[in-house]
Amino acid sequence: MLEIVPLSAFKDNYIWTLRAGKYAAVVDPGEAHPVKDYLLREGLTLVAILATHHHPDHVGGIAELVEMKKVPVFGPRGESIPALTHPLGENDRVEIPELAAEFFVLDIPGHTRAHVAYYGLGSLFCGDTLFACGCGRVFEGTAGQMLASLSKLAALPDATKVYCGHEYTLANIKFARAVDPDNSVLAAREEQAAKLRAAGRPTLPSTLGEERATNPFLRCAEPAVIESANKYLGARIADPVSVFAAIREWKNRF
Ligand code: ZN
Ligand code: FE
Repeated sequence: MLEIVPLSAFKDNYIWTLRAGKYAAVVDPGEAHPVKDYLLREGLTLVAILATHHHPDHVGGIAELVEMKKVPVFGPRGESIPALTHPLGENDRVEIPELAAEFFVLDIPGHTRAHVAYYGLGSLFCGDTLFACGCGRVFEGTAGQMLASLSKLAALPDATKVYCGHEYTLANIKFARAVDPDNSVLAAREEQAAKLRAAGRPTLPSTLGEERATNPFLRCAEPAVIESANKYLGARIADPVSVFAAIREWKNRF
């Protein structure tokens, strides 16, 4: 049985660790030491590294980990990932036989040029593209690309567990409340997330069903979100890409 465990890194990054029996794989190891400590403490052998995109807080620990153990490194074909052995893109598969796990690769550009997500076993590892109740900044792509990537993820089943790269949930919810003030599901989510954080627990994984109901960046066609975007811009827009661009810009200044 595969277990998925968050390891904290830096201030608010998660390194997702997939474990079964004596084996483990890690997603986005921005630092090596939390992984090394965990493997040692739990008596696990590293068998694979998966990277979603090239940012240092996601790949910074890879070189040191492969120095410790030479394992396959999966990552986007279009980005420079340290020690990459398996360059991947849309529809490629990642097989990790030691964990009896298989993931499909989705191209989700926008935050970075060739950002990928891994989807399998009802779980989605989406790096800095989809966050709990938010999304990543658009650094290397366009708003249109980012919205298309988010919509692609949003089309996965409701029960899909969302494992993203950062614990940004409370701040994201605060912003979401400003955009979508009358959303009662969102209000309930804020209460629940605050309780988890007060208890020192992660707010992740969330589910795609929850995200579709509360994440403003997946709700750019909702009248309430369109209205808020119009108020922010002081203009009348309704097409989803313009609405997305407006609320992303608003979030950057929030
Ligand atoms: Zn990033
Ligand atoms: Fe990041």
